[in-house]
Amino acid sequence: MERGIKKFLSDREKNGLLRRLAPVVCLGTGRIRACGQEYINFSSNDYLGISGHPRLAEAAAGKLSPALGSSASRLMTGTTTLHQELEEKIAAFKGKPAALVFNSGYQANVGMISALCGKRDCVFSDRLNHASITDGIRLSGAGLFRFRHNDMSHLAALLREKRDRYDRVLIVTETLFSMDGDISPLEEMARLKEEHGCMMMVDEAHATGIFGRNGSGLAEEKEVTDSIDIVMGTFSKALGGFGAYAAMSRAMRDYMINTCRSFIYSTALPPAVVAADLTAVDLIKTEPYRRETLFENVRRFRSRLREKGIRAEGDSRSQIVPLPISGNTETMRLSEDLKRKGYWVTPVRPPTVPRGGERLRVSLTFDHTPEVLDRFADDISDSYGKERKDAR
Ligand SMILES: *Cc1c(COP(=O)(O)O)cnc(C)c1O
Repeated sequence: MERGIKKFLSDREKNGLLRRLAPVVCLGTGRIRACGQEYINFSSNDYLGISGHPRLAEAAAGKLSPALGSSASRLMTGTTTLHQELEEKIAAFKGKPAALVFNSGYQANVGMISALCGKRDCVFSDRLNHASITDGIRLSGAGLFRFRHNDMSHLAALLREKRDRYDRVLIVTETLFSMDGDISPLEEMARLKEEHGCMMMVDEAHATGIFGRNGSGLAEEKEVTDSIDIVMGTFSKALGGFGAYAAMSRAMRDYMINTCRSFIYSTALPPAVVAADLTAVDLIKTEPYRRETLFENVRRFRSRLREKGIRAEGDSRSQIVPLPISGNTETMRLSEDLKRKGYWVTPVRPPTVPRGGERLRVSLTFDHTPEVLDRFADDISDSYGKERKDAR
């Protein structure tokens, strides 16, 4: 037994696929300390630099007493008035009648999909959807059909071929893809959903707080909120807090409260966290300059890379900037090279991405200054150019 586990680990190590934890100390404004050295963090999802906002800390501190923990699950006494307030605020923010707060995005996806679908149902899921979506579908026992990434003609063909064999049918996608930085064709997907009588769920984990006139996400920007049955997202990325939400109809909310096991059988988020999340949603409204600066950073960095002849992937507006590099060892080498220059960019390797899809995933944030971005692009160009030549 133990031998099998050791062999698994040594095989992974040999193939450059062994994952290790790297404890970091957060130094604020986009910098971290790890292994005794200081780095500029290009792997953070704190896109708006809100997690270090003094108002978040104040809000949380105000709710630390009389108790840190919520002490019970939501259906017992874990639903505080703060939870209720946050759900009302999110519903209004997302333009839906109701919302439910979850302990994490992972739990939200696994729980809601498995509550919604069963053996007689099926799910059409983008091939590159997040693991939490795939795990929810697997747990549900529903049929799974994966359509090619963002390919609506493939989805349409699958729907025509398979839809009628199932009762309830769910189409699910991320809106801004977490590893690819591209945006799903939500309008066309919503049209197909109506045409084939399906339900639709979107994951706005990386779009919440950034896209749309009010910053609520891409469903808002593309004006498809009404067609989408469940709009979920997290408080843990651009909102700088913790936990997750799903906005939906009142009936859907009641259904989830009664059936969603990851919601029912887990202790509610601590009031301090909920208070910070509430403040974070307010900051999206009151400090829009954060996302404007982020977009400015995205334009600056992407065009600098272009000038250097480096092809970055993803949507031109996306703060997630994937740099494709084939091969684990090459990806690791480039990441190490950039570390020596003071940048922390975690390499992304299988199974998070498909084999051959290894990459450096650069995330840009509000905290990166123009000088840092320019220097980083130039340093990438030096390292990347070298890597390319070696690879040939
Ligand atoms: C991060 C992420 C999640 C999980 O959210 P957590 O709150 O971190 O558990 C779900 N979906 C996507 C697309 C994500 O990127």
